[in-house]
Amino acid sequence: MTETTGKANLLGMTQQQLEHFFESIGEKRFRAGQVMKWIHHFGVDDFDAMSNIGKALRDKLKACAEIRGPEIVSEDISSDGTRKWVVRVASGSCVETVYIPQGGRGTLCVSSQAGCALDCSFCSTGKQGFNSDLSAAEVIGQVWIANKSFGTVPAKIDRAVTNVVMMGMGEPLLNFDNVVAAMHIMMDDLGYGISKRKVTLSTSGVVPMIDKLAEAIDVSLALSLHAPNDELRNKLVPINKKYPLDVLLAACKRYVSRLGEKRLLTIEYTLLKDVNDQPEHAAQMIELLRDVPCKINLIPFNPFPFSGYERPSNNAIRRFQDLLHKAGHNVTVRTTRGEDIDAACGQLVGQVMDRTRRSERYIAVRQLNGEADAPHSANRT
Ligand code: SF4
Repeated sequence: MTETTGKANLLGMTQQQLEHFFESIGEKRFRAGQVMKWIHHFGVDDFDAMSNIGKALRDKLKACAEIRGPEIVSEDISSDGTRKWVVRVASGSCVETVYIPQGGRGTLCVSSQAGCALDCSFCSTGKQGFNSDLSAAEVIGQVWIANKSFGTVPAKIDRAVTNVVMMGMGEPLLNFDNVVAAMHIMMDDLGYGISKRKVTLSTSGVVPMIDKLAEAIDVSLALSLHAPNDELRNKLVPINKKYPLDVLLAACKRYVSRLGEKRLLTIEYTLLKDVNDQPEHAAQMIELLRDVPCKINLIPFNPFPFSGYERPSNNAIRRFQDLLHKAGHNVTVRTTRGEDIDAACGQLVGQVMDRTRRSERYIAVRQLNGEADAPHSANRT
């Protein structure tokens, strides 16, 4: 477990929360902006480095506050430029963050939970069960660490991270408050100034929280669809038993329409050989998405030991893509990146501390999935 200090961690505070913090210690609200810039623009974690803050306040801050990101366990760089960090969070578990450079863009795939309770059958994270939610500091800390690692601070305009996808380990909508706070910091000019179009939250379909998200923030939304009918999706993405496709797509359409601009839902579809990659699946998908404003991202499955699934052949992938294209869809196939450092999609495993730990919330989620409360480890490899 990571040592707790009892001090307020300023890293995960939004501007509003920092203003309240400064008021609570008898200081002016404008200090929030100064400190945020030091933390997020300059990557500073030492109050003594904040040269526009007087010594008395710096000493006061040192006594009651800290700037602490997750602990870096390892950083690997792939031959294709992809980077992967393993970081340890307060629960003692490790989670992974992946940076994917492409053209002038640098996309950071950020984790929201250690492990995941939703148990999607093809997902290596799901195989570990749920351990803990990440704090807001641990979520935004992954962006902070990546930018610092590239040495692109303090040059704010040249930041390495231009896009963030909440697609790492965990279901972000089940860690709602912390993820939303972190995304506000990503978008805030005092934070990372990333456009709302370039911050994307990916969900497997926690319907009530999609509506709640629309009231809280206007980031882009991605849906981990993975199956074009309820029968198959119930097997691949068990939360579908609670929130079937008609209810789920209605919620996604509500979300995207509330954005009020030409914003599209991203559909993520992991292609599994002979499971969901056949022409009839493409036909069902075309029908399902007939009136959904979306773009489709096909993700050829990245095998991991004992997954029980295989990657389709290149011909099968192309055939599936062509069928969707011909129906008028904007379809891309995600190129596998960072395979040599196990950073490819679906390969993020981190290291959950206690694989048998079952929090009350974990049990609640299993019930939410409509599943008997059987030991989760029964499905594990
Ligand atoms: S695919 Fe996402 S929601 Fe499903 S088990 Fe994996 S991390 Fe959780």
